[in-house]
Amino acid sequence: MSLIVQKFGGTSVADAQRLENVARRVIEAYDDGNDVVVVVSAQGDTTDDLIEKAREVNSKPSKREMDVLLSAGEQISMSLLAMTIEKLGRPVISLTGWQAGMATDGTYGAARMKRVLTERMEAEIDKKRIVIVAGFQGINAVGDITTLGRGGSDTSAVAIAAALGAELCQIFTDVTGVFTADPRIVKDAVKLDDISYDEMLELASLGANVLHNRSVEMAKKYNVNMEVLSSMEKVPGTIVKEENSVEKMLVRGVTRDNNVARISLVNVKDEPGKAFQVFSLLAKKKINVDVILQSVGRDDMKDISFTVTEDNLQSALDTLNENNAAIGASEIRHTENISKVSIVGAGMQSNPGVASLMFEALYDAGINIQMISTSEIKISVLIEEKDAEKAVVAIHDKFHLSNV
Ligand code: ASP
Ligand code: MG
Repeated sequence: MSLIVQKFGGTSVADAQRLENVARRVIEAYDDGNDVVVVVSAQGDTTDDLIEKAREVNSKPSKREMDVLLSAGEQISMSLLAMTIEKLGRPVISLTGWQAGMATDGTYGAARMKRVLTERMEAEIDKKRIVIVAGFQGINAVGDITTLGRGGSDTSAVAIAAALGAELCQIFTDVTGVFTADPRIVKDAVKLDDISYDEMLELASLGANVLHNRSVEMAKKYNVNMEVLSSMEKVPGTIVKEENSVEKMLVRGVTRDNNVARISLVNVKDEPGKAFQVFSLLAKKKINVDVILQSVGRDDMKDISFTVTEDNLQSALDTLNENNAAIGASEIRHTENISKVSIVGAGMQSNPGVASLMFEALYDAGINIQMISTSEIKISVLIEEKDAEKAVVAIHDKFHLSNV
């Protein structure tokens, strides 16, 4: 007999029929003799619709009130799922974030989990009830509702699994697992049986839209076994777990991220402190910089290029232009017409030649590389956006990822 946490995303609980389908998956685990805690997201586009409603009344609402509003989405799902399970004759109770003891810090709109006060959930589990918890929400030290940021329900589920010492945290979604590439781009992409936390963390941050990266971070920290699986099809998903129990593949997956913009500061003085000057300005505006490239100095001048997400482009440009008297670039260029294509695999740490193979695939496909960035277990290239899908297919082929 074990405890399982199951999380269902917005598409999985979008309407009555899907709710019934979810209820049956939950009941199956419960009838097998498990204790079951279920975490739900808001139905379908509810969160987006609520954001839209807020805009209709106030273009700059306070973050506190936004959290009060957005948390309503998950509250709808949790009660509807509980009612569906009631109808199917099993004992069940739904709990909001604060009822379930989801204590967070005070950052409205992007709160971080601090601890889970498990007493109430445990008391309900002891009564043999299925416990449904609203994802994405918590309570801060002054007793206000907070939310964890878009996609945050995954993190709620992992936090609960860690706090209750669950055997497994199942993240049900609309795909059957984590794939070697997006199956919409690469027809012969294959589902991975398992993947390490670090690899998953990279994939999640590089544009594989299956898991919220903070949930993977937390799963790694507390060693929670996660499974990504389909809420519709009954097939085994992908297990996310500790590295030493996963086969070290050279490359596990290829991703592409179109939400990338590049800024180039042309002809800045080649002297100490320039990079510091530029990036401290951006840091003050809380703009995350990703790939950075600085040219070798010539004639006392150098170029500094870097990437940001597209939604940060305008504010980055504004900041740099306002301060260019001090920075002294002869020109500030930018483009949104760019994509980041990456490969991830724990095995590349100890195997030379992985980068060369990736670059060969791009060369064969006639694709020009604009910037390169690497870490121990990933290599990213920036290329023109129009080439991104072609690049993913070419790289997937080159590493024979359909035969893993
Ligand atoms: N409902 C929230 C969102 O749409 C949280 C989640 O789905 O995980 O971002
Ligand atoms: Mg999600």
